[in-house]
Amino acid sequence: MADAWKFEVELRADPAADEVREAILAAPGFGQAFTDHMVLANWTADSGWHNPRVTPFAPLKVSPAAAVLHYAQEIFEGLKAFRHADGSVWAFRPQDNAARFTGSARRLALPVLPEEEFVASLQALVSVDERWVPTGGESSLYLRPYMMATEAGLSVRPSREVLYGVLASPAGPYFQSGVKPVSIWLSTRYTRASPGGTGEAKTGGNYAASLVAQAEALANGCEQVVFLDAVERRWLEEIGSMLLFFVHKDGHIVTPELSGTILAGITRASVLELAADLGHKVEERRMSIDEWREGVAGGEITEVFACGTAAAITPIGRLVWDGGDQVIGDHDVNEGIGPVTAEIRRTLLDLQYGRTEDTRSWLTRLA
Ligand SMILES: *Cc1c(COP(=O)(O)O)cnc(C)c1O
Repeated sequence: MADAWKFEVELRADPAADEVREAILAAPGFGQAFTDHMVLANWTADSGWHNPRVTPFAPLKVSPAAAVLHYAQEIFEGLKAFRHADGSVWAFRPQDNAARFTGSARRLALPVLPEEEFVASLQALVSVDERWVPTGGESSLYLRPYMMATEAGLSVRPSREVLYGVLASPAGPYFQSGVKPVSIWLSTRYTRASPGGTGEAKTGGNYAASLVAQAEALANGCEQVVFLDAVERRWLEEIGSMLLFFVHKDGHIVTPELSGTILAGITRASVLELAADLGHKVEERRMSIDEWREGVAGGEITEVFACGTAAAITPIGRLVWDGGDQVIGDHDVNEGIGPVTAEIRRTLLDLQYGRTEDTRSWLTRLA
């Protein structure tokens, strides 16, 4: 298909009643409820991409021998659609999600989806399900593009049949009762990714491998887990689905460099630019777990935060490890969100919700 895709639309006969949808939008939570429709498109080695469509949200029919179910040949993306005050709906840097989806596809031996069709698929779905985009607060419509290997057969090789899809799920504010700092568990037993592996790709297998470490974090009273590098077990990598930032006493900000084993977060890239706008010197470099602990103990590091699409920016209030823990910053102030973290968070959200001018053209209109 050389021309722009035409998404056929099949509207569902039984959309959610207004009261049902409004009840969901009043308290959507995260990833629980889905809109009336979804996007699907098929790819085969013989015919390439075909049949892009918006179709009623429904279970998929796949063979129990589908490659994805056995060998995890799968990738995904995650981004949000934000409703602005004038009612319009916008995505934040969706072209960057499209480019990352291409990188993930190449690493997982999946076909490349044309990047303009990735964005067009979001527009196709959100224009049909526009009523599902919440209004107010820090709510949004979370969009989940994915691609998976559907060919039936147990040979280990790239699938010759693939399905692309997009789900949309209304999302409430990540922090229900105001932004609160989280506690982070230092995983020394498990790693998330290794050089040459799939750490840089957004693929389900990385998440499957992190669940046991995440369970260890919960068992130790923490919300999230931080991973170290797999070789020296010393360098900071990332928090399951968020990237780390360290604010120093003199205002400069350090984030672990993209090592090939951490995910190139779009929120991370945005924070680097916005923090520089706000006058902070920003540095991407290797940083060890000892530098974290010593920096906080000596007062050199004053704030730690993590960032990703789901929560935007999350302050980190405590690091816990096997045998000890350490509180970061002054928890009686601002309930633990430091002034620099708060300012960067507000700057990012003001841009996403259209309250400040989008000077970098980071927003793309979806509906
Ligand atoms: C998606 C993801 C992130 C966050 O990236 P954003 O583009 O900022 O949402 C961080 N780490 C992992 C492992 C991820 O999958």
